[in-house]
Amino acid sequence: MSANKRQTRQFDVILGIIALHCTAFLAGCFTRTSRMASQAWTEYERGNFSQAVASANIALEVSPDDCGTRYTKACALWKLNKLNEASKELEILIQTKPRYEDAYVALAAVLLAADENQSVIRVCKQYLIEFPSGKYRNQILADLANGLAHIGQYEEAWTWASKAIASDANDPTVWQQVLHVFYGTGNRAKAISLSQQYLVLFPNDKEVPQVQRMLAFFQNEQQRNSDDVARFRKYWARKLSKDLPLRVYIQNDKADDNTVNSLRRAFLEWEKSTEVVRFKFVESPVSARIKCMWVGRLEVKDTDFAATSYTDDQAIISFVASNACASNPEFKPCCLHEIGHALGLSHSLNPKDIMCGFKPINGRPQGISANDADRIRKLYSRSHP
Ligand SMILES: [Zn+2]
Repeated sequence: MSANKRQTRQFDVILGIIALHCTAFLAGCFTRTSRMASQAWTEYERGNFSQAVASANIALEVSPDDCGTRYTKACALWKLNKLNEASKELEILIQTKPRYEDAYVALAAVLLAADENQSVIRVCKQYLIEFPSGKYRNQILADLANGLAHIGQYEEAWTWASKAIASDANDPTVWQQVLHVFYGTGNRAKAISLSQQYLVLFPNDKEVPQVQRMLAFFQNEQQRNSDDVARFRKYWARKLSKDLPLRVYIQNDKADDNTVNSLRRAFLEWEKSTEVVRFKFVESPVSARIKCMWVGRLEVKDTDFAATSYTDDQAIISFVASNACASNPEFKPCCLHEIGHALGLSHSLNPKDIMCGFKPINGRPQGISANDADRIRKLYSRSHP
């Protein structure tokens, strides 16, 4: 054997060893990666969402294009309520694999939860272009309607919602989602007609009692808004508008200081956002225009634990003493709402208004909306007859 040949042979051997090591190394990587990927899934299924994210991260370091693992990671982040991070992962997923339908549906849902409505609209429209007859079409149509409704585009919301219903008229879940859109937006006429259609189509669905409740509410509201209450409140507001600043009495022997102060701040919030009404807190209930009282119980409640009634020259806000206290997170929105009535406002149907007549799906707003303030300004403006 020539020296040359021997060298080549040794070289071959060395190459072989290197190759063997590389294969072993790569195989090790792959088994480790796929082990971590399946670990992520197992942890997710067990409900260990932080662990699932950690395992997914290790797997994704080696195989960043592993869509299944990224999807698992995104879902785990979603479960951990890390909505921003979850949506980022899903955006990456859609970029790497535009045909991954599940990613769009999850992303739309995450964005809806985060109240990122413009992004919801963008993602849903993108899905409808990418998958004209996709398997999640109805879900996406309902999400799109939701996103639009949340930013007040009711007409366009209705267009997409009716497409969802039209494409699968026999699926009660699609109907429920669409109904929620119109309950949430307070589009009374559509909420009533849709609820009625739903009750005819699905008389045995499990959501029937809830739909009946909402239908009764909207019908009742339609009644109330057109009747004497609304007229009386307008008359009341005109009367008060000639008596500014309005004298306010707050009964202070049945509520703690925090609660009384919190109620005062609610009055001042109306002052600040309307720049029309003004209040003066007085020590005697006799001459007060608005009287706030704490009572044992209420026959008829408006918000969770309060109601407003009127005499000839006083609006009386009554709070149920056991619930109405500053430590209750519902207290502030409830105070703002009742003060609105005491000032002469009737209910609105927009869930973003403090005067919304029902408790919106996402809870009552914490503050006075531009629309609430506008309605007061109209009622109290001097040009008003
Ligand atoms: Zn009310």
